[in-house]
Amino acid sequence: SAAPRPLTTPAVPPTTAELAGRFENEFGRLPDGVWQAPGRVNLIGEHTDYNEGFVLPFAIDKTARVAVGVRADSSVRLLSTYGDQGVFTTDLGNLDAAAAKGWTKYPLGVIWALQQRGITVPGLDLLLDSNVPLGAGLSSSHAIECAVISALNELTGAGLGPEEMVLATQQAENDFVGAPTGIMDQSASLRGSKGHAVFLDCRDQSVRLVPFEAEPAGLVMLVIDTKVSHSHADGGYASRRAACELGAEVLGVKALRDVKVGELEEASGLLDEVTFRRVRHVVTENDRVLQTVELLAAEGPGSIGALLDASHVSMRDDFEISSPELDLAVDTARANGAIGARMTGGGFGGAAIALTPLGAEQQVRTAVERAFSEAGFTAPDIFTVTPAAGAMRIS
Ligand code: ADP
Ligand code: MG
Repeated sequence: SAAPRPLTTPAVPPTTAELAGRFENEFGRLPDGVWQAPGRVNLIGEHTDYNEGFVLPFAIDKTARVAVGVRADSSVRLLSTYGDQGVFTTDLGNLDAAAAKGWTKYPLGVIWALQQRGITVPGLDLLLDSNVPLGAGLSSSHAIECAVISALNELTGAGLGPEEMVLATQQAENDFVGAPTGIMDQSASLRGSKGHAVFLDCRDQSVRLVPFEAEPAGLVMLVIDTKVSHSHADGGYASRRAACELGAEVLGVKALRDVKVGELEEASGLLDEVTFRRVRHVVTENDRVLQTVELLAAEGPGSIGALLDASHVSMRDDFEISSPELDLAVDTARANGAIGARMTGGGFGGAAIALTPLGAEQQVRTAVERAFSEAGFTAPDIFTVTPAAGAMRIS
């Protein structure tokens, strides 16, 4: 959907103690604990996850926190500090996605996915506070799910490992919420580490943490949230997945992960023009992830600008998932000193990232704001992110 998104999360989040106090006011007793999980920025590797390929996201310093208290009955009561939707009440025996209001489908989906695994989830009271921007492509939905599953994993004593929690949250999104997402977002949120990007092989879920810190290299990672909501419900995401499946089938591979850059020329003769471009994006993007990992290790963040640029061009021209706002953000950032920039996330809106020298940060911000204003676009939100810790208990 291309509708402007008026909603923003509060600039100054409440402290953990304030959150516990708010929980007590609402639910009449203190929570059993508070857990947090971050949103994520994907450094590179877009639409490669469901092609069993490589991604390189990092957990960001914006998090969803949930204060949770176990109940003696089977009621589930859910409240967010954001918006004024009030307490949503349902029952463990009656988890219904269609009846779930707004964000409540995420915690309910996690409960449901745990139940599918034979885990007995108790009734609970839950208060959510998140400063992950909504619908910006920073995965505010997985931040909620990962905070909730971290809490419930501990409170139920289920003892799931990170791989199982990744699959459970994927099942929650795919089969309860109805969003056909892969495993990248929750892997970053659950397995991220301060000062690192998460190099994830989506075929076998193996993870290697890759040191990634912009600031020591004299850089800053800017996120430019275009304020245009992406939506997985729209046909664009589904049709890209379908094109990838068709491409893999025609080329006789299990997934596009199995096609090499050197095999593209031959593939072009076998595929229709549009499917070929979709395939070329995925195949070259996988290769760019591998190159980025190598360059980060060998030369540091200052060396990956050209790969970020090439990733954007591939998404814009071959995969066709960019938007005028994203292209303007990327082009303006590059013209004003960013060393590399690309749209990040699933596309059709959301955010761009711009790896920017510290000395050029203000110029990039001002130039992007001016360019958006002149184009008649909604004013963007521009902020810095740093690679932060993954999900954890904080109280
Ligand atoms: P993304 O995950 O990229 O941010 P989604 O469309 O998957 O985008 O998820 C955004 C949705 O998550 C919003 O529409 C809203 O329902 C929900 N959401 C996220 N954060 C909050 C919050 N703090 N309070 C209430 N709802 C939230
Ligand atoms: Mg989401």
